[in-house]
Amino acid sequence: MTPTKKIRKIIHIDMDAFYASVEQRDHPEYRGKPIVVGGSPEGRGGVVAAASYEARKFGVRSAMSSKKAQQLCKHLIFVYPRFEVYKEVSQHIRSIFHRYTDLIEPLSLDEAFLDVTEDKQQIGSAIEIAKLIRQEIKDELNLTASAGVSVNKFAAKVASDMNKPDGLTFIGPSKLESFMGKLPVEKFFGVGKVTAEKMKKLNLHTGADLKS
Ligand SMILES: [Mg+2]
Repeated sequence: MTPTKKIRKIIHIDMDAFYASVEQRDHPEYRGKPIVVGGSPEGRGGVVAAASYEARKFGVRSAMSSKKAQQLCKHLIFVYPRFEVYKEVSQHIRSIFHRYTDLIEPLSLDEAFLDVTEDKQQIGSAIEIAKLIRQEIKDELNLTASAGVSVNKFAAKVASDMNKPDGLTFIGPSKLESFMGKLPVEKFFGVGKVTAEKMKKLNLHTGADLKS
């Protein structure tokens, strides 16, 4: 018997504005407000570890200095991180993943790849599994996650970012090539700002340009 190449089913799960969403969940007074998690307990030093979607509207981003963030949004609320809580949530999410597969590759506290080519409950559909996981995260943790479903990790990760927050995006095998072709170079793994600039000077803007 010749082994047939099986199409893999990969899900990338990414919590939405993770630390900031946990703080908004636990502190109703922060809901609907621009908040950032980070800084120091005494003051507003340090960098932004996470920004709520309300804060992002002002251009506030993670890894930005707190000072810069404050300049962009005058009424920004600074929240000191509670890593024990984020770790607990992360473990709970992990336990939800394990209901479907043990092939889990965490990227951080709030992000992981799941290989559900063979799933433990024999559901068979990666899209269905992604829906269930998102629902269970909502029901059990009162938080939202975005999911990307595809045939490899790279595409699944890009997909999870396409309909954030609270989104589910599927890139099937037939769409993969056109999807990669249209993808801007800066979205490729390992391509940072500097490399992207160099590529653009060489007139390489998309996956299709790279391929040709
Ligand atoms: Mg996230």
